[in-house]
Amino acid sequence: MSKNCLFCKIVKGEIPAAKVFESETVLGFKDINPSAPIHVLFISKTHTNDISELSIDPTALSDLFSSLTEYATTIPELKDGYRLIINKGPRGGQSVFHTHIHLLGGKQMQGF
Ligand code: 5GP
Ligand code: ZN
Repeated sequence: MSKNCLFCKIVKGEIPAAKVFESETVLGFKDINPSAPIHVLFISKTHTNDISELSIDPTALSDLFSSLTEYATTIPELKDGYRLIINKGPRGGQSVFHTHIHLLGGKQMQGF
């Protein structure tokens, strides 16, 4: 846990979040400022700053991806597909430095 990390505070229940998925190691919750009808964030409960740090732990990485794909299979609006985004570092648009994957869907996604 990182003391001043926003998403660690969500994991600890110190800040509320609309949870959509929870396991021992992974949490999925709605983004507070959604960019699509479905916009959720998936995180490992263990703190890492960004995707390059998380990638050192193949088990955590695999847990995270299998959790979000498992979640997606339960949502009819995601049956035909969805988009995953990982922002890395300030130049990549990362604003919360606890590794997270954006899952966006529920509408036709266009190019970026
Ligand atoms: P990033 O820009 O780091 O890739 O994404 C951070 C995301 O976290 C943003 O989409 C932002 O809307 C979301 N976010 C920021 N603060 C909170 C919060 O307190 N609760 C939730 N649920 N999402 C947040
Ligand atoms: Zn954290």
